[in-house]
Amino acid sequence: MALLYKSDPARGAEWAKILAQKAPDLSFRIWPEIGDPKDIRYFAAWMPPDDLMTQFPNLELLISVGAGVDHLDLSKLPLGLPIARMVESGIVDGMVEYVSMAVLGLHRDLIDYAAQQRDDVWKQIRVRPAATRRVGVLGLGMLGEACCRMLNNFGFQVAGWSRSRREIEGVTCFVGAGELPDFLGRTDILVCLLPLTDETRGMLGADLFAQLPKGAKLVNTGRGGHLDQDALLAALDSGQISAAWLDVTTPEPLTKGHPLWSHPRVLVTPHIASMTQPETAVDVVLENLRRHHAGEPLIGLVDRKRGY
Ligand code: NDP
Repeated sequence: MALLYKSDPARGAEWAKILAQKAPDLSFRIWPEIGDPKDIRYFAAWMPPDDLMTQFPNLELLISVGAGVDHLDLSKLPLGLPIARMVESGIVDGMVEYVSMAVLGLHRDLIDYAAQQRDDVWKQIRVRPAATRRVGVLGLGMLGEACCRMLNNFGFQVAGWSRSRREIEGVTCFVGAGELPDFLGRTDILVCLLPLTDETRGMLGADLFAQLPKGAKLVNTGRGGHLDQDALLAALDSGQISAAWLDVTTPEPLTKGHPLWSHPRVLVTPHIASMTQPETAVDVVLENLRRHHAGEPLIGLVDRKRGY
């Protein structure tokens, strides 16, 4: 019985070291050194091959090495194959850091000061207390909830939006399409931490921007596919959106010369908000193998109907 890994080879080598200590009996293989394909029972991958089940006829469990599963074509994977996404504390910690940085950066006018510095301008912008700023987080899952809690600690007025009703201390929770307009209407800084699904694709567009207060700011750490980039550029030009902090784009990498690169009100980072950390990820993978054998519910089991 073997676990096959197909993603960044450098991090694969770290998995190998950790697994050699924590699970010496588990045969761990890094793509493309597969060995006998019939041995492969578990596959941890970012991009598995299309002919997955033909190549690995004894595969029992597919593990996404990332928190999202939008890179997988769920419709092509056999219904009997459970898919677990990565639910581990390293991803959460990284995202909480990044979202805090982005929200604080927008709140404290970092984009304005970066522009001023380029022009040798010393001009103070009045400091607004965090308590006067309303932050709204789209998605209250593993990442959204943790970010809300941290933003709460800074004193922001924090709200969140999800599909099913959530209760988080100190966070005003909105649910579903019916409550989206109220959520947006009270949001000065909008953070997207949704999974990319048929329902959420393209939702950061002209219609949504129009429901935000004029001059609202945007942080997108979900997926590039959530954002209509042309609509964002138009909203920045009209002043409806006053600044955007983007970790994800379409395409990735963002093409050379794309207007988002040089827009004075946009900050772009190359999809680094958070990364799976081998030390903590391996613990969750081993726990999931144990649960799989014991017939217990998997951590991060993907619901194919919902798409996340
Ligand atoms: P979860 O599945 O834990 O949470 C998703 C949240 O979104 C849930 O609260 C869910 O609602 C809500 N949601 C999903 N669909 C809808 C909808 N149609 N309407 C309203 N709410 C909806 O995901 P995570 O928090 O772990 O991750 C979120 C995303 O972050 C990932 O899918 C990935 O795209 C992105 N990500 C980005 C990274 C980066 O480096 N930029 C790194 C890691 C992840 P409910 O609670 O009701 O289910």
